[in-house]
Amino acid sequence: MTVRPILEIGHPVLRQAAEPVDDLAAVQGLVDDLIDTMRTANGAGLAANQIGAPVQVCVIEVRPGNPRYPYKPLIPLTVLINPTIELLTSETFANYEGCLSVPGLRGVVDRAVEVRVRAIDRTGAPIDAVVRGLSAGTFQHETDHLNGTLFVDRVTDTHTLCTWEEFHARYEAAFIERVHALVRTWGG
Ligand code: ZN
Repeated sequence: MTVRPILEIGHPVLRQAAEPVDDLAAVQGLVDDLIDTMRTANGAGLAANQIGAPVQVCVIEVRPGNPRYPYKPLIPLTVLINPTIELLTSETFANYEGCLSVPGLRGVVDRAVEVRVRAIDRTGAPIDAVVRGLSAGTFQHETDHLNGTLFVDRVTDTHTLCTWEEFHARYEAAFIERVHALVRTWGG
């Protein structure tokens, strides 16, 4: 397991659509590096192209006490290979997102509150899950990466863009109230 450098916005690999994986054995080391890099950076998820590998692999995990996202519901370690996302509702919530590849910046993205995720895990076992609430936003963010999309592309009101310091000072308290209401309604 190796902590790899995380590419930042402007690097062209972040804008490429990732290729499907057909050889699971060939990506096992990559999966280990993604997990190690995500945990070291306190991310809630990390996609392979963020560490320079344009293949359809991403990892998601929210552990207790995550300092970047203390309000996020916990998500067990999940490895998604060749994932697809189906939006199950047109209902959205305003998610204040950040990204390890967009350092220092947060902004509001409208995300569907309920999605179906299909993928295989690192052993090839099928994953078919419905994800709701704030966690649904996390899954949409990571699978967006594999299509070459960054959260800033989905920010419709650029006045919501802010540094992490301004987020903490001005917007976090109200956002956490909204998150609690969202989790009460939808779980996740
Ligand atoms: Zn990201």
